[in-house]
Amino acid sequence: MKKILIMCPQIIRKIFAITILTFALPIYAEEDTSKIINNYIQCLNAKTFLMDGTCRKIRNWIAEKTNYYQYDEIVETLVNVVGVQTYYYDGVKTTKKDKTQCENNKGLQGFYDPSRRTIVICSNNFETSGEARLVMQHEIVHAAQHCYGGTLSRNSMLKALYFRQPPISDDFETVLELYPKGEWVNELEARAGLMSGLVIDYATLLYLSCRENN
Ligand SMILES: [Zn+2]
Repeated sequence: MKKILIMCPQIIRKIFAITILTFALPIYAEEDTSKIINNYIQCLNAKTFLMDGTCRKIRNWIAEKTNYYQYDEIVETLVNVVGVQTYYYDGVKTTKKDKTQCENNKGLQGFYDPSRRTIVICSNNFETSGEARLVMQHEIVHAAQHCYGGTLSRNSMLKALYFRQPPISDDFETVLELYPKGEWVNELEARAGLMSGLVIDYATLLYLSCRENN
């Protein structure tokens, strides 16, 4: 009896919280791209974002309910909002130097230039268009590492949210062979990828990494 009495307020609180969350569940129209972005950023900015499920709900909406172009637009905005630029080989903003670098190195799929805080995607070197998103994900991790000031999985919150598995990569030998020793850990982390494998989570990781550094 005593136990039931003690449990009751908890149950009531839980039901109350679920009711609030259900009503707070965002329902967006297809054209509400900027509203979705604003709500998501607002939610990530809240100190309590880990405790309430709103961010996850908006993130799920982005991942499941948006169309291909809308999804890309949201990801790109989230990346740009922290000051990181994203240029594609064919894009108007890509510099001549970037293009030459992409053209002269057929194995180069993309790179992050920390001095300009710019991700360049060498789309000229792809066989399928789907590769662009994977390369973007990889370079976003480098941008996040730069923003945070080192390996991201050192941060307990980022690690718990995105790196539940240790960053082990098939590319281990390649990395050791092609990269200077000082870049090994960051390169392996970027190649290992995130648990979810979703580009929206990469963009969110970048957003949070920049915030964690402040
Ligand atoms: Zn890399």
